[in-house]
Amino acid sequence: MRDGPRRVSSKTGPIILTRKEVELVEWRRTANRRRRERAADLLVALFWISVSAAVALWIAAGGLRHVGDAGGVVLAVGIASGLVATDLLLVMLILAARVPFIDRAIGQDKAIAHHRRLGRPAMVLLLAHAVLVTTGYALIEPADPLAEAVRLATATPALAAAYAALAVLIVIVITSTVRAVRRRFAYEAWYLIHLLAYLAVLVAVPHQLEEGDVLALGTPERVYWIGLYVLAFGSAILCRIVLPTVKTLRHGLRVTWVEQVAPDAVSIHMVGRNLGALRASGGQYATWRFWTWRTWWHAHPVSFSSVPTGSIARITVRTLGAGTRRLARLRPGTFVSVAGPYGVFTDRARSAPYLAIVAAGIGITGARSLLEDSSLRPGEAFVVLRASDERQRYLWAEVVDLVRERGATLITMTGHRPKGRPTWMSASAVESGLNLATLFPLLHQSDLYVCGAPAWADLVIQDARRLGVPRERIHVERFEA
Ligand SMILES: Cc1cc2nc3c(=O)[nH]c(=O)nc-3n(C[C@H](O)[C@H](O)[C@H](O)COP(=O)(O)OP(=O)(O)OC[C@H]3O[C@@H](n4cnc5c(N)ncnc54)[C@H](O)[C@@H]3O)c2cc1C
Repeated sequence: MRDGPRRVSSKTGPIILTRKEVELVEWRRTANRRRRERAADLLVALFWISVSAAVALWIAAGGLRHVGDAGGVVLAVGIASGLVATDLLLVMLILAARVPFIDRAIGQDKAIAHHRRLGRPAMVLLLAHAVLVTTGYALIEPADPLAEAVRLATATPALAAAYAALAVLIVIVITSTVRAVRRRFAYEAWYLIHLLAYLAVLVAVPHQLEEGDVLALGTPERVYWIGLYVLAFGSAILCRIVLPTVKTLRHGLRVTWVEQVAPDAVSIHMVGRNLGALRASGGQYATWRFWTWRTWWHAHPVSFSSVPTGSIARITVRTLGAGTRRLARLRPGTFVSVAGPYGVFTDRARSAPYLAIVAAGIGITGARSLLEDSSLRPGEAFVVLRASDERQRYLWAEVVDLVRERGATLITMTGHRPKGRPTWMSASAVESGLNLATLFPLLHQSDLYVCGAPAWADLVIQDARRLGVPRERIHVERFEA
């Protein structure tokens, strides 16, 4: 395939829909989207109810009765910030638990984005809790705050454990939010440190049950908090351990062969039982773990690069780092664990009559299975494939066949980006005056699906937003956790 944008069109050309047809399609699809939006709104409402309940129940139980002087005020603010911080931490655990309802409503990537966003406020409130409670008691005693901190930290095993839990959570937030620190850790090492969060949250429970009478026996507060703990840890155990284990045993996936599709990419073909019951849609991904000595300890999110049949599944992996390089050497017969499918990068998310897909490099995997699985009429879909050079034209031949079969239009664009210019297109495409609107003539009647590396995907989305494509018609799968 020569460099520069190339077009592969269906013989029929774009389908021109009548106004009535456009309205019917939009009505049907908007109903789907509204359902998801309602579910997302419900999640937001539950979040704010839980944060307010954390403080309201405490106040209702007389939490403010000691607020008579400065010490009492500082202590009360300290306790309230501790309650809200704990609530946020438990909500973060639920967001990271891969709960199917949350995944269907907002997608795992958005759930993780919210999880991350809550990290800092939770940390600030936890630190405020420790400092204000110590200061409050120091003012009430009265005592030197530092001496008071030492006294509290050594007063009971529960309080000592709470201080230790705070230290662990500080380490976790630093290794997750300070880029310079995060970069120093291999993904697996970072992940292990991150798992300590569960332990830290649990270790802090005794001081919540014992200290002051915040969670006194028989109070609605105690019921609320125990309920929230059970929900948070229960969803993590159910959705991250039990469900994937049941699915793995039910489908009994095994590697059949590893196909070298490019110098740095392999397709891993698998066979399994009753894969239809996975209900994986094109565009979705799963988290895969391959049981060999060299690979059992790291799992990877990878999109389906074709829609699974009743017994066959395939993923295509670029050997980016140490983990994926090991996957390239898997042997036939290797047992596979699967968690998922996850993600809302599917045909179900559409609300517009036309489909526009832009994919770069290995991002083609999600785009290819989406195209394969979408209910399309000839002339309804437009696809742009991007590669910096010919080595990154993964599965392009398959997409050309699919495009012909589905009556879609394909534009391939190979070449590096122009230096010093923030664009997702190749230099030759920019020179020839192409842009998202010229590449997709029906962009404003389309859902735009973008799949690839995060920074590249953000540039496509910026262009689309600049051209007035509504946010709800832009769907993105960023290939990085
Ligand atoms: C939703 C989604 C779908 C994806 N689909 C595909 C696909 O179809 N084909 C493909 O080749 N790649 C895909 N990826 C990317 C793939 O997961 C990473 O490239 C792979 O995990 C890198 O592992 P590594 O050990 O080789 O690299 P490392 O050198 O360990 O890491 C390279 C980068 O990958 C990230 N990473 C590493 N391990 C994981 C992990 N377990 N979970 C999440 N991120 C991780 C790290 O944050 C790091 O930035 C997808 C990622 C996501 C989030």
